[in-house]
Amino acid sequence: MKIHEYQAKELFRRYAIPVPEGGVAATLDEALAVADTLPGYPLVIKAQIHAGGRGRAGGVKFAANRDELQRRACKILGMTLVTPQTGPEGRLVQRVLVEQAADIGRELYLSLLTDRATASIVIMAGSAGGMDIEKTAATMPDKFIKVQVNPLQGLQPHHIRQVLFGLGIPPDTMKQWPALLAALYRLFVENDCLLVEINPLIITGAGSPLAVDAKIELDDNALFRHADLLTYRDLHEEDPLETRAREYNLNYIRLSGNVGVMVNGAGLAMATMDIIKKAGAEPANFLDVGGGTTAEMVEKGFAIILSDQNVTGILVNIFGGILRCDVLARGIVEAANKCGISVPLLIRMEGTNVEQGRKILADSGLPLITAVDLADAAAKVAEMVA
Ligand code: GDP
Ligand code: MN
Repeated sequence: MKIHEYQAKELFRRYAIPVPEGGVAATLDEALAVADTLPGYPLVIKAQIHAGGRGRAGGVKFAANRDELQRRACKILGMTLVTPQTGPEGRLVQRVLVEQAADIGRELYLSLLTDRATASIVIMAGSAGGMDIEKTAATMPDKFIKVQVNPLQGLQPHHIRQVLFGLGIPPDTMKQWPALLAALYRLFVENDCLLVEINPLIITGAGSPLAVDAKIELDDNALFRHADLLTYRDLHEEDPLETRAREYNLNYIRLSGNVGVMVNGAGLAMATMDIIKKAGAEPANFLDVGGGTTAEMVEKGFAIILSDQNVTGILVNIFGGILRCDVLARGIVEAANKCGISVPLLIRMEGTNVEQGRKILADSGLPLITAVDLADAAAKVAEMVA
């Protein structure tokens, strides 16, 4: 789950990580009220959406006085911001963060992320941060270093020294940094983060570190132990189909292709997406209905797949173990009767009660395409959506 910058900064404050003074606003009046609590101008107005690249897209503006704040906040609130991370449809800005503008001495880059390959927490530190970060990373990779931290050992003094070296912090100004890095690491671990990114992390004109931007992604699978963080969820920023699937306990992720996919088991789902791609088509989603599925959940899964306007065909690939093929077949028939399956449906199933399942499907009179095995399914997928 991603959270907004203003929420990430709230977390930063809890860990005494320095952030600019400010507050969030959903209306112009609220923005002015926040401004009135701050010591003075200039202020920054920042669009709050779950995507980066706002600066270049016009979602980050300065205000030198109240009048300017009024004009600019008015413009950003309600705008549809298109950045390289939003896709062409962009995102509606429903809130802005109004902050004291920082006096930037230097812009640095700092992030923490989980690294599956090494089973460690990786800290990325760059001595050149800011809006050109992608370009900098591509053209000057030596400006960045990666420090691996074994989560069982935790952050050690030698890691901190390496990171400070990577950030290019002069030794005589290092004093405030070890506490900041330790706090950031603690925040990462204690809140089960997948990513914490500060770009830019700045050194102010006065020489102090300040997190001018804040991006946090939390591990959905650990949210059950962070009731406080769940209040940060912003459903406007999430795919409505994924939200519905979560309510039904279905493991659904929307993708951009046109072949709807229903599978049981994550491994089989990955393999199924592979055969779809191999057949020259693109999956419209990942959907693992799981082992202990009921006919009702299968039906709900279909409803979700069919709500995606891009879907022009569905492939069901089930290996009946705990989920019996007759239960699946009944779910399919019920779904077809209830929501009307309007696109070609290709079914490959194997395993427990497969004969009963096949009979239920055959007796239903539904126009189904069946496949005998994976290779057959792959060939028929290409035909189905051609
Ligand atoms: P992003 O483009 O979505 O990553 O949004 P950021 O919060 O990083 O803002 C974009 C850029 O605006 C930053 O890289 C900074 O260069 C600049 N910026 C943001 N806040 C301030 C500020 O308080 N003072 C100054 N001088 N620049 C800022
Ligand atoms: Mn940024």
